Amino acid sequence: MSRFWNSRTREITPYVPGEQPRDRAFIKLNTNECPYPPASAVARTLREMDAETLRLYPDPVSLRLREALSAYYGFPVEQIFVGNGSDEVLALAFQAFFEPAPSGQAISFPDITYSFYPVYAALYGIPCRTVPLEEGFAVPIEALAAPSGGIALANPNAPTGRAVGRADIERLAAADPGRVVIIDEAYVDFGGESALPLLDTYENLLVVMTFSKSRALAGARLGFAIGSRELIEGLERVRDSFNSYPVDRVAELVGIAALSDGAWFEQNRARIIATREKTAERLRAIGLDVIPSSANFLFAGVPGVPARVLYNALREEGILVRYFERPRIDEYLRISIGTPEEMDALCAALERTVPAVGRPGRFEGKGGTVWHGWPNGNA
Ligand code: PMP
Repeated sequence: MSRFWNSRTREITPYVPGEQPRDRAFIKLNTNECPYPPASAVARTLREMDAETLRLYPDPVSLRLREALSAYYGFPVEQIFVGNGSDEVLALAFQAFFEPAPSGQAISFPDITYSFYPVYAALYGIPCRTVPLEEGFAVPIEALAAPSGGIALANPNAPTGRAVGRADIERLAAADPGRVVIIDEAYVDFGGESALPLLDTYENLLVVMTFSKSRALAGARLGFAIGSRELIEGLERVRDSFNSYPVDRVAELVGIAALSDGAWFEQNRARIIATREKTAERLRAIGLDVIPSSANFLFAGVPGVPARVLYNALREEGILVRYFERPRIDEYLRISIGTPEEMDALCAALERTVPAVGRPGRFEGKGGTVWHGWPNGNA
């Protein structure tokens, strides 16, 4: 706590991103990055880029990138907004469309979802109401559609990987045309059904997407939103009151390059989906409960065993995954889909670990850490 912080800075609880290790070569399955390099056009673009151009500010409205997105997705450039990662686009959308307290009505999102949503709501003073996920982490569409100041839904959801169909999204959009519904499609390319076809009918729907996952550009920080002109103009107004140049020259060029290679994109998502399905099967055989996933990660755990135990055991074997110490999900690991070789290493480590932690007794990790008396003792 610092005397220099204002009351908001004192009160916020920032989002904590997954660990980016600097000191050791981990098999990194903790931040849903793509395990493969981006399309070769990206490397070529970087090699050919003229450093001289960095002297100049980028195009504040990233017209070329929006034109490339327009050609790819079939919406006019006026319906496309780009930003510094979809995190930024989401933050701007919360600011632009949801009303702060005391006049604002609470917005709704599921109790288990991308943990940045409550952080944005708190930062901007937007009241929110969480809607509990149903059995098996299914999204309760009717409860979410109930009157509120707005809706945010990750589809597929994070960290569960479960997706809802387009008809369910339509139900949310149609329930109140005067309220903005943000659909966060960060993971849609791995098997979700995009809400994009609904945009011609619903002006209150904003679809947010990213280059970070299916296009392997997490390091470039590029996200975008597609929606009605009205919504896009709202995002532009907030952006231009905050940072006029969110997308730098390098990011804009590599984004355009990534979009130019449709074959790479199709191959990439197909191989990640195939690895996911194979891994899910193997994890089930090891004894894990695996939630059906439409994303580039799996949500899986051993019933009765805190995820922390498996997380620590995997970490000792040089494998990084993620878990969330929150009610209902603290027995699940979120495991990003890596290469088949990385998933082999993960499964081999779990084959060794799960039988040891799945029963009471003494479990000794590879690095010498000892857990006692499972399931009653400390992990
Ligand atoms: N939405 C969801 C559901 C996510 O999991 C993530 C990745 N952490 C993001 C948005 C943000 O991705 P990015 O800022 O890299 O586009």
